Amino acid sequence: MTAPSRQQLLRKYDVPGPRYTSYPTVPYWTGQPTAAEWLASLGTPGSTRRGAPAGAAIYVHIPFCKSLCTYCGCNTRITQNKEIGHRYVDVVLQEWELYRRELSPDRRLPLAEIHFGGGTPTYLEPADLHRLAAGLIAGGTLTSEAELSVEADPRVTTREHLAALAELGFNRLSLGIQDFDPRVQDAVHREQSEELVHTVVQHARELGYRSINFDLIYGLPFQTEESIRNTVAAVTRLDPDRLAFYGYAHVPWIKPAQRKFTEADLPVGEAKRHLYEVGRELLEAVGFREIGMDHFAKESDSLWTAAQENRLHRNFMGYTARPVWPQIGLGVSAIGDSWRHFAQNEKVLEPYMQRVLAGELPIARGHTLTAEDLVLRQHILNLMTSFSTRWSDPELHLPFLDAAAERLRPLEQDGLVEVHADGCSVTPLGRTFLRNVCMILDARLARQTPPERLFSRAV
Ligand code: SF4
Repeated sequence: MTAPSRQQLLRKYDVPGPRYTSYPTVPYWTGQPTAAEWLASLGTPGSTRRGAPAGAAIYVHIPFCKSLCTYCGCNTRITQNKEIGHRYVDVVLQEWELYRRELSPDRRLPLAEIHFGGGTPTYLEPADLHRLAAGLIAGGTLTSEAELSVEADPRVTTREHLAALAELGFNRLSLGIQDFDPRVQDAVHREQSEELVHTVVQHARELGYRSINFDLIYGLPFQTEESIRNTVAAVTRLDPDRLAFYGYAHVPWIKPAQRKFTEADLPVGEAKRHLYEVGRELLEAVGFREIGMDHFAKESDSLWTAAQENRLHRNFMGYTARPVWPQIGLGVSAIGDSWRHFAQNEKVLEPYMQRVLAGELPIARGHTLTAEDLVLRQHILNLMTSFSTRWSDPELHLPFLDAAAERLRPLEQDGLVEVHADGCSVTPLGRTFLRNVCMILDARLARQTPPERLFSRAV
C-alpha cells in the first residue's frame, strides 16, 4: 500500500477541532467552583511535571476597541469614550484587591507574569495603563525573571503607552498584524501600513522591549499565496522575535460582523491550509522555527530555548516559556486556571463591574476537573508542548487511554504518530495534524461525537 500524499492527508484530516488551550475545552465545562473553592484551589500547587511553579500569572482583559475588525472573535466593547477606561481600571484594581486580601495579605505573593490582553489594552490612556500595572505589582512581589507583556493595536499605540509600561518593567509586546495586503485589510476593516508598524516596533526597541511578537492570520478573505508572500516579506523587514500564525475561525452566527464578507471570499479547506504551508516555509527560510502548533520563534528567543529544553507550557494565551501557576484572570470575561479548576468572569461589562463593586468575585462560569480530566489534561498538554506523552506511571494511566491507543492506529498507518505500549509520539509529518491526535485523547469529545466524524474524514 502506498503512503498517502500530503495533499491526501490534509484533505482527510481537515475537520474542525479545538486548539486545546485548556482541557476540558470550554464547551464541556461543568461544575463551576464556588468563590471559596476557587480561592482555596489557587493556593494549591498545580502540575509539577515540569518543575516547581515559578509564581502566579495575572491576565487582565481590557475589552475596549476604537473600531471593530470584522474577523474578530474576542470579547470587545467598541467605544470612543475614554472615561470608561478610567473607571474600568478602578474596578479591575478592586477585583485584584479581592484576590490580594486572600492570597497575598503580606503582599509577598510571587508574581511571575502579568499580561494585558484584549480588546485593546492600549485603548487606555498611558496614565491609566501605568496606574493599572503599578497597582497589580504593588499587591505582590515580582520574581527576578518576571515577564510583563502587553498586546497592542499599532493604530492606537503611542510611544507614551509603551514608555508608561516599560517604566514598570514591561518587556514584551505583542502586535496584532494579521495581514499587510490592502485588499485583505479593507475587507477585515483593519488598515495599518508597514510604516506604522515599523514606528511602533522602533519605539518598543528603543524603550527596551526585548521580545516582540506579531499575530498573523491565514484564511482571511481575499488572501492569496501572493498576499501571504508579501506579508511575510514585510514581517521579515520588521524583524519580530516571535510569531503566532493562527487559522481564521469563521463563525458568523456568533460574530455577525463576519458577515461583511461572504464565504465565497474565503480560502477554505485545502486552499486555506496551503496558505499556512506557504507562510511556514517562508518563515522558516528567514530563520523562524515552528513551535508546537501555529507558533514560531527565532532561535534567539526564549520560546525556542524552552522548546529545546522541554519546558514549554500552554495556557489560554497560547505558548509560554515555562509553567506558571496559578493563573488569575482579572477583568470582564477573563479566565483563571488553578490546574484543578477553571473560572471565567462575567462576559458583559456592566454585570462584571457591578459584581466587583459589590465586593464579590465576578465568576460566571467554570469547571472543576475530575480525576479523569486531570490525567487527560496532562497528556494533551504534553502532546501540545513536546509532541509525545507516556502513561507508564499508574497515576497517569486510564483504561480510556488503552482504547485511545487503538484509535490512534489509523493515524500510525498514515505516518502521523508512533504508538508505544505506554504512550505515543507525534512524528515530524504528524505535527501538522497535532490537534487531530489530541482529539483522540479527548474523552469528553469522544463521548459526544460518533467516531467516524471525530478526527478525520474518508478520502
Ligand atoms: S483590535 Fe483586536 S480585539 Fe479589537 S476588534 Fe480588532 S481584532 Fe478585535
